[in-house]
Amino acid sequence: MTATTQTLTNISGWGNYPTQDAQVITPLSLSAYQTQLAQHPSIIARGMGRSYGDSANAPIVLQTTYCDHFIAFDKATGLLTVEAGVLLRDILKITVKQGWFLPVTPGTSFVTVGGAIASDVHGKNHHIAGTFGQHVVSITMLLGTGEVVTTSPTELPDLFHATCGGMGLTGVILSATIQLIPIQSAFIAQKTIKADCIEAACEAFETNSSGTYSVAWIDCLATGKHLGRSVLMLGEHAESGRLDLTVKDPITVPIHTPAALLNSMTMRAFNNAYWVKASGDKTQTVPLLPYFYPLDAIGGWNKLYGKAGFLQYQFVLPKVDGVANMRNILTQIAQSGQGSFLAVLKQFGQANQNLLSFPIEGYTLALDFKMSQSTIDLLHRLDDMVAGMGGRVYLTKDAVMLEVSFKTMYSNWEQFEAVRQKYGAIEKFASAQSKRLGLA
Ligand SMILES: Cc1cc2nc3c(=O)[nH]c(=O)nc-3n(C[C@H](O)[C@H](O)[C@H](O)COP(=O)(O)OP(=O)(O)OC[C@H]3O[C@@H](n4cnc5c(N)ncnc54)[C@H](O)[C@@H]3O)c2cc1C
Repeated sequence: MTATTQTLTNISGWGNYPTQDAQVITPLSLSAYQTQLAQHPSIIARGMGRSYGDSANAPIVLQTTYCDHFIAFDKATGLLTVEAGVLLRDILKITVKQGWFLPVTPGTSFVTVGGAIASDVHGKNHHIAGTFGQHVVSITMLLGTGEVVTTSPTELPDLFHATCGGMGLTGVILSATIQLIPIQSAFIAQKTIKADCIEAACEAFETNSSGTYSVAWIDCLATGKHLGRSVLMLGEHAESGRLDLTVKDPITVPIHTPAALLNSMTMRAFNNAYWVKASGDKTQTVPLLPYFYPLDAIGGWNKLYGKAGFLQYQFVLPKVDGVANMRNILTQIAQSGQGSFLAVLKQFGQANQNLLSFPIEGYTLALDFKMSQSTIDLLHRLDDMVAGMGGRVYLTKDAVMLEVSFKTMYSNWEQFEAVRQKYGAIEKFASAQSKRLGLA
């Protein structure tokens, strides 16, 4: 057997919007990948489907999660080589007890290494560590021509910088070598700070910018002088404590919750309760997993938004005028009454060389909206504002952006297409998102 095929499965990203009937093919070996590639005019790689929108949706998808073997791990140097279908969670199960941690990690551990590279994901430490791709030493990938190549910042660097953040559109990542970081314990020393408006929150980020991890929960429904009130959580790897990791299976949300339960009244009540409960200037030591992945404890929390699904919107604004611009956007969101339970504010450091990578130096906000036509209209208005402010929207969260906005925000898109052309990726690798955004 060279491949497992499931015909016509209905797939979606984590936001459950949009959905698509797709042939999901699970290659079991490199030759199976090559056979599938030769047989189909157009495909896209798919990992855990934890991107929110339609970047891993297409009529034919190559599911990479079967190819999840560890290839090499040097305990002395922290250099790790794995197949692209390995989950970050599985890496941690093996490496933390040896004193090594991921250099950059997103807010869920249920993502594949291939997905983390293709989205060039960031964590709570972007201001000092950059993106996941900046810690990738090399990538082995399958091109549209059927050829397997190795790429790195020095080997075929144009391919490397298009692939990190390239949303699967340059080829299929088969394996990668990553440099991990040393840790002394499996705990984080966490400090909580309360900031009663967006200006105070951004100032707190600046004051603490030499710290390793920082993130803020922000109340997007607060208005007036409390607009943007936030609870900041700063973190440092604890220097003492055990190195073992307690990995619990998530509890599961069994059914799609009626969306009517999530209205602006319930959200306002949740946000108020969270603000009141949080205590400022508190320091505590917390285990790694709940610190980095609080939502991983609840499997299927995405069903809380009901069958129609939800849209996650994440944008970044440049630092210059960033605080005033953030106030303008928060005002629009608060006025729409469509904010979310969970809104997350972070600071970003400098941009990297990856052509479609999301982060630029400034402030980034991520929030969820219940799916509806009025939400789509709101997001299009916000896209215009973000583009006008010199910012951009994160592709791995996007499901509705218009081509014109994408091409304004991601000015390297033509260079990206030229690299795809050079390596035989044009038309061979395409997703619902890439078609919507006008990529070939
Ligand atoms: C709760 C939650 C929290 C999150 N927090 C963050 C965060 O803090 N920071 C952040 O940056 N992101 C965050 N994300 C987004 C997530 O990290 C990315 O969407 C990631 O790419 C998902 O990986 P995946 O394996 O599920 O990939 P998928 O969703 O399956 O695919 C995502 C993209 O990667 C491509 N891809 C996947 N595998 C391969 C491969 N082998 N070769 C080539 N291309 C491939 C796909 O084609 C697609 O374009 C979060 C997501 C969730 C659900």
